[in-house]
Amino acid sequence: MQILEKTELKALKKARNLGPKKTISLLNKKGLTGRGGASFPTGKKWEFALKQKSKEKYVICNADEGEPGTFKDKFIMQKNPETLIEGILIASETIGAKQAYIYLRGEYENLKSKLEKTITKVIRKAKTKVNIEIILGAGAYVCGEETAIIKSIEGFRGQPYLKPPYPPVEGLYGKPTVINNVETLTAAAHAILLDNWNSLLRLFCISGDVTKPGVYELPAGIKLSEAMKLAKPKNPVKSVYFGCFGGCMPYKDIELTHDNICGEDCVSGSCTMIVVDNTRSIVDLAYVISKFFAYESCGKCTPCREGSVRILLLIKKIRQGKATAQDLNLLQELGEHIGQTSLCGLGQSCTNHILTSLKHFRKDFEKELR
Ligand code: SF4
Repeated sequence: MQILEKTELKALKKARNLGPKKTISLLNKKGLTGRGGASFPTGKKWEFALKQKSKEKYVICNADEGEPGTFKDKFIMQKNPETLIEGILIASETIGAKQAYIYLRGEYENLKSKLEKTITKVIRKAKTKVNIEIILGAGAYVCGEETAIIKSIEGFRGQPYLKPPYPPVEGLYGKPTVINNVETLTAAAHAILLDNWNSLLRLFCISGDVTKPGVYELPAGIKLSEAMKLAKPKNPVKSVYFGCFGGCMPYKDIELTHDNICGEDCVSGSCTMIVVDNTRSIVDLAYVISKFFAYESCGKCTPCREGSVRILLLIKKIRQGKATAQDLNLLQELGEHIGQTSLCGLGQSCTNHILTSLKHFRKDFEKELR
C-alpha cells in the first residue's frame, strides 16, 4: 500500500532543500487534497498560513476520527506513525510553526503512548525545533470539526464557531493554524518524496454486512462492484451508506467518484462505505443514525439541538406504527430545514441519511405507517 510506505525523513529533507514556497508548489502540482471530507487543496491551505505575518503559528493533526464506519486514520497511526509525524514536521517547518498538536480521538487512547514514543524518536532524528504534543479528545463527534478542535485545545467546550476567519488566517489562540487530518499529512510526505506518487489512491473503509470489512487502498473511480468483490457482502446489497453523515443510495454499480456520489445526493466524505444488505430495514437504520446525531449534537444552535431530537421522536413514532403520512412529510421538511439552517457540518449533514432514505426507500417507511 502506498500509504504504508516509510519515508524515513527523506521527504522532510527534500522539503527543507526545496524551501516553503517550492514545497507548496510541489504539493499543488501533485494535486494533494484534504482526505478528511472537504477535499480542500492542501498546498493552498499551507500557503494561506505561510503568507500570514505572525511569530506564532500552529499545525494541528486532526486524529479525531469519529465518523461511524471510519477507521483509516487509526490504521495509519498503528502501521505508519513515523511517516505521519514526518508529515506534521514538514507542514510545521513549511509554514513556520514551532508547535504542533495531534488531536487524538478519546476512544484511541490506547494509541497514545506508542505515538508519543514515535514522536520522540522522529524529532530526535530530524533535529527539528518543532515540538509535537498529543491532546486527547473526550469522545465528542463534533470535535472532528476544525473550529471545535481549536476551542477544545484552548481549553473551552469543544463547540464549532462561524467562519471566516478561517484557521490558516486566524486559528488556535488567534494565530495562523493549519489543520489537516492524519491521512492528508501522511500523504503529504509521500507526495513530496515519491516521483510516482498516485494522487488517485484513496483509503476506503468498508464495513457493515460484509465478510471482509477493512481498510482498502483503491483508486478513486473504482466501480462499486469491484469494491464489493473485495469486501464480500453476505447477502445481496440493498444500500450503501457513506458513513452516517453522507447519506445512502440504493445499490448501483457506479464508479466511485466524488461527482457520481454527489449525483446520488450523497457526500463521499472520507470514503467510508457501510454496506447494508436486503435483510435490513432502512427505518431501523434511520433510527440508529438519528439516535447518534441527537446524542452528538453539541447543543450550540437550535435547529440541530432541537431538530435532531424531533427527528428521532418521529422515527420512533414510525417504528411504533403510530405515524401517518403527514408525519413522513414533516420528517422530510424537518430534514431539509435542519440541514439548511444549522451552524456546522454536523447539523448541516445530520439529516442526509433521512432525505436520501426517504427518496430511495420511502416504501420502507410507508410500510410502517398507522
Ligand atoms: S450544528 Fe449541531 S453540532 Fe454544529 S454547532 Fe450547531 S448544535 Fe453544535
